[in-house]
Amino acid sequence: MRYHKNVPGYYVENFGCRATQADGAALERQFEELGLSRASNSSQAAIVVLNTCTVTAAADQDARAAIRRIQRRNPEASIVVTGCYAQRAPREIASLPGVTHVIGNSHKHQLAEIVGATADSESVLDLGWRSAGAPSKADSGFGWRSASSAANTGAQLAGALAPEGPEFVPLTTLTAPAGSREPEAQRPIFVSDIFAHTELLAAPVFDAPNERTRPNLKIQDGCDNRCSFCVIPYVRGQSRSLPPDRIIREVNTLVGAGYREVVLSGINLGRWGRDLRPQPPDLRLQPSTLSQTLASEVRGLRSDAAFQKLESRSRDPRFADLLRTILSETSLEKLRISSVEPMDWTDDLISLVASSPRIAKHAHVPMQSASDAVLRRMHRKYRPWLYREKIEKIHAAMPAAAIGADAMVGLPGETDAEFEATRRMVEDLPFTYLHVFTYSARPGTPAAFLPNQVPVHVARERNRVLRELAADKKLAFMRSFVGKTVEAITLKSEWGAGECGAGAPARESRPAEFTEALTDNYLKLHLKGCHEPNRWLHAQVEDVIDGALEGAAKHADSPSS
Ligand code: SF4
Repeated sequence: MRYHKNVPGYYVENFGCRATQADGAALERQFEELGLSRASNSSQAAIVVLNTCTVTAAADQDARAAIRRIQRRNPEASIVVTGCYAQRAPREIASLPGVTHVIGNSHKHQLAEIVGATADSESVLDLGWRSAGAPSKADSGFGWRSASSAANTGAQLAGALAPEGPEFVPLTTLTAPAGSREPEAQRPIFVSDIFAHTELLAAPVFDAPNERTRPNLKIQDGCDNRCSFCVIPYVRGQSRSLPPDRIIREVNTLVGAGYREVVLSGINLGRWGRDLRPQPPDLRLQPSTLSQTLASEVRGLRSDAAFQKLESRSRDPRFADLLRTILSETSLEKLRISSVEPMDWTDDLISLVASSPRIAKHAHVPMQSASDAVLRRMHRKYRPWLYREKIEKIHAAMPAAAIGADAMVGLPGETDAEFEATRRMVEDLPFTYLHVFTYSARPGTPAAFLPNQVPVHVARERNRVLRELAADKKLAFMRSFVGKTVEAITLKSEWGAGECGAGAPARESRPAEFTEALTDNYLKLHLKGCHEPNRWLHAQVEDVIDGALEGAAKHADSPSS
């Protein structure tokens, strides 16, 4: 199916983590491949897609506020809600005024097709958006509808949905306490069992609309862990990896487009590759037992040249193997890896990151808590001593590396002594930054049923203590570079390409002209003078001002292999 050209287009608004941003970029690709153009903002779009997050109650609230805002400012728009919140609570969302479609992560890979085939908005249909064979408004039959019944509404939609099977299994029906009901809804809902899905949406995504220097490539989705506080596995499904050939292709495309740093990301990135090893012949699933989608993915995977190379090893491919393949098969100048769980920081991975000048000296290692009891209640798979050991190894191998962590305060039952163990660990270890989260109960997760909820004011205070401690450590880390040389990539100015700081809010302490840059070890750098964006250079650090290094460029160059 192709949509007509030259119609007011779609607009995708993303919420939440990098993985969600990557999904958003892939959704844009879907619409563009179908001939729709991107509107400049949500008020001018015929279709507004809200790509939601549900990691906290506040994230849900942000999505609901966005729906209200769009409904107010652009009442004619089709409001399509997708992402993790849509997967978790489809009926709740469908009951909100203005929402025309709720499409969970389970059906996100077909979102543009589904929206096109089921559009009932006059503003959309009048623009010739629907192709021959798609259902008419009369037969779109809005109301409660599962993927299977929706598939009866037209050949195109049936085609789009056929590989998925007939199940409509919202998470909330699996996890909601008996007798509880979500509000009734009258909008089409496309959500099925996420654990039955094998698709992985992937398209490079950029950090911020005005910072397009360091694309982010999602290579893994889902998670096989079941941390007691976390809703992610229920809304993103099992861990699955992008095949290596596809990754190499994406990286080479980005390199060809002139990018010099690529950030690899995933929900549980260190598990990349564990699902890619083919089954021995007698155990292989036959296509007749698979959905068409899965069958074609498996066929594609077996003919994947980079995979064959990795397969020749005696074990399933590991994340470190992939990094080596990227280094050897692309000319990418710098690879940065996002969050990797402590168990996956193997000696091999640490020594690879430490030894390659083409991999950024940056390790983000989720900690959550340093109390053994709390980690057990969280169902985390490591103990505090292992965490400490990993961070010490990383620091010993790369003394100037950025080392960051996620910490969670306020899990039900967290005592003062348990929090103190976390505070002490943060104080002791060489962290250069910390992301501190306050526990938020997520419906359906085991932790939501734990007794002894921590009072809000206590959790807030613990959050403040950790943030202040982390800020002091970050400042000390930054000051340790004064008088030294750092490697950094120049960014596209926050105030527009080539403006070089002009238009930035005036600050006495900042040089009149400067260029923003990011160091290899993840520190913000203000470089004196104007420099072209997207260049690796060395800089002499002179000071630390307003949370950033300040310095002067020595000479432009690039990392050697
Ligand atoms: S590792 Fe734990 S916290 Fe992270 S996504 Fe998986 S279940 Fe959630």
